[in-house]
Amino acid sequence: MHGVSIFSRAAFILKSMSIVAYIGLGSNMGDKLATCRRAIEMLGKAGRVIKVSSFYCTEPIGYVSQEDFVNAVVEIETPLSPTALLAHCHVIEDALGRSRLVRWGPRTIDLDILLYGDEIISGAELTIPHPLMAKRAFVLVPLSEIAPEIVHPVLKATVLQLLHGLREDHRVSLCDASVNP
Ligand code: AMP
Repeated sequence: MHGVSIFSRAAFILKSMSIVAYIGLGSNMGDKLATCRRAIEMLGKAGRVIKVSSFYCTEPIGYVSQEDFVNAVVEIETPLSPTALLAHCHVIEDALGRSRLVRWGPRTIDLDILLYGDEIISGAELTIPHPLMAKRAFVLVPLSEIAPEIVHPVLKATVLQLLHGLREDHRVSLCDASVNP
């Protein structure tokens, strides 16, 4: 009885210290859907996964002679600090065999912290909100599916407003079963 109450108190304290963060995932090598699903499962070790967007098939930007990406966004409630969350993302990337030879080029899995509560962080290793999130349809489309009203703490606009103001027209469409033929 005593043990249970200590446990539930610890759970309460952890929950009250938790922050809601949004993590963007992208994969364009190998079994992209399976890799994204596995990464989401592994994110469960960093906190409680609350929402997962649909998977979107998206056109590569920058280095274009590569396969389409699968992108998604996860909402997670986490007790981890931003740097600990980033470290956890790197562990997942390493475990899933992230490989990348070219900047903007093909990668097995890429995890980006898009938002961490309404914190603004500008460091050598970590910038939050993610600097490119407001410019990329492959982020804003899945993010607007699960958190349309969340406000970008620097731009002071909702995700939906950012999406409507977006000028790029790279293809972002819901994935179907043929994504991993
Ligand atoms: P990239 O794989 O091109 O997304 O870049 C990876 C590096 O970007 C990581 O090693 C991080 O140190 C750095 N980085 C800076 N801000 C972020 C962020 N918000 N989320 C993920 N990585 C970030």
